[in-house]
Amino acid sequence: MNKYLITGGAGFIGSHLAEALLARGDEAHVIDDLSTGAIANLDGVRDNPRFHYTIDSIMNRGVLAELIDRVDGVFHLAAAVGVRLIFENPVETIETNIRGTENVLELAARKQKKVLIASTSEVYGKGVRVPFGEGDDLLLGPTTCPRWAYACSKAIDEFLAIAYWRERKMPTVVCRFFNTVGPRQTGRYGMVIPRLVGQALKGEPLTVYGDGSQSRCFIHVRDTVRAAIALMESDAANGEVFNIGNPQEITIADLARRIIELTGSKSQIKFVSFEDAYGPDFEDMARRIPDTGKLNSTIQWGELIPLDEILMTVIESMK
Ligand code: UDP
Repeated sequence: MNKYLITGGAGFIGSHLAEALLARGDEAHVIDDLSTGAIANLDGVRDNPRFHYTIDSIMNRGVLAELIDRVDGVFHLAAAVGVRLIFENPVETIETNIRGTENVLELAARKQKKVLIASTSEVYGKGVRVPFGEGDDLLLGPTTCPRWAYACSKAIDEFLAIAYWRERKMPTVVCRFFNTVGPRQTGRYGMVIPRLVGQALKGEPLTVYGDGSQSRCFIHVRDTVRAAIALMESDAANGEVFNIGNPQEITIADLARRIIELTGSKSQIKFVSFEDAYGPDFEDMARRIPDTGKLNSTIQWGELIPLDEILMTVIESMK
């Protein structure tokens, strides 16, 4: 049995990770300030005697240090995420993402506990050479666009994690999560699938931003979590960066059509300009596909859940 701390464990990915760890027989500790997470996300695990949670911020170093003492490793998922949130709260985004990660790494380093840093495919920015490989250059836009502040804050987290490994031999691993979806994800902070599914189920128009020709690759949270656990347990992963994504690509317009079909909804598609959706300083990326070669040569990942099945699990959970 291993003992792990999940920062941001009441969030969408964190709560699925807690479930997966407990299902394996591990002990799971969660710290979450409930800023975007929700206690209800933990309903399935709260009665498990190997589950423990603390409602507090990772800015509270005393509490964080005590929790790190109790575990063998830390999954650091606490962060400001979601394109809408990032546009509405740029200061909080930068401060939480940088200071929070500094705290986790510094305190874990004192005890040489391994830390997995949840980063994001946003760090690739508007690179156009797909698929994105971990060694590719990052192409970020101007500092007036909050989206790039988010990408940059996560890139700093990555630099810091790698620096701790190189300079202090503290084991760290960086995961770049590509668009992750599944039950319990909220559309409140911008995520497209829960938003469109919610609209389809209510018979409202599905809001597709831009002309809908931009594409994304969606991965089921269960596949994401399996990869994260395997990387936490792999010594070969230390000091390395990994994409975690499902290479199956779909345009957002096709995604909206598929959601209408699978829900049997009478909704129409409504195209909304990026400016109307997010304001004038917004930039979207056209395509974002993960190269998962490095991940697959490091862990035994196996079959991934296909898009239709991902959509069905989300639809069922939102009905
Ligand atoms: N999007 C959309 N309608 C929405 C929300 C998002 O068309 O109601 C688009 C968004 O512009 C982007 C894609 O869906 O091209 C994925 O958006 P999301 O915010 O889920 O993730 P990210 O942009 O970070 O990949």
